[in-house]
Amino acid sequence: MAVHEIIRMGHPTLRQVARQVDPAWIGSHEFDALIEDMQDTLNAAGGIGLAAPQINVPLQIAIVHLPGGEGRYGEIPQVPLTVFVNPEISVLDKAAAGCWEGCLSVPGLRGYVERPQHIRVDYLDEHAHERSIEAQGFLATVIQHELDHLAGRLYVDLIEDSRLLAYEREFVQFGLDEGPGTRD
Ligand code: ZN
Repeated sequence: MAVHEIIRMGHPTLRQVARQVDPAWIGSHEFDALIEDMQDTLNAAGGIGLAAPQINVPLQIAIVHLPGGEGRYGEIPQVPLTVFVNPEISVLDKAAAGCWEGCLSVPGLRGYVERPQHIRVDYLDEHAHERSIEAQGFLATVIQHELDHLAGRLYVDLIEDSRLLAYEREFVQFGLDEGPGTRD
């Protein structure tokens, strides 16, 4: 059990394409310890998702855990801890919606990003079982954000209007999340 340092934008690992995990390695002591460390690190940081490259482990692994209730993203659904290994994403509906995203590797900032809101993810779970889930809305956004880390992408790459990037304090202070006015 260990909380790792979360590396920040500028660290080259965040810009690499992460390596595929050998399914035979899943369930090993080393694998289980990595997942536990990722959970500990996510909990300590108070985040809702973490990709292995964010703790400088360039492997195709990400975890998502939405506790539900009111948080810094407003009211969010409850999703139990989900481990994605070697995930592949398919967009089921291109209709996109915007969200002010944040990232533990880009601390203190929020940026407005539009993403498709209906996706499917095919992946291996922490027992090496093949899984497939459909996700919509906020969960679809969160999953795409995390899986982008495995491709060396950060949400800031997807901000179309750089005026829609702000420090968190000012984001709250000036109510930037209050609807379409943010685009004016
Ligand atoms: Zn992130």
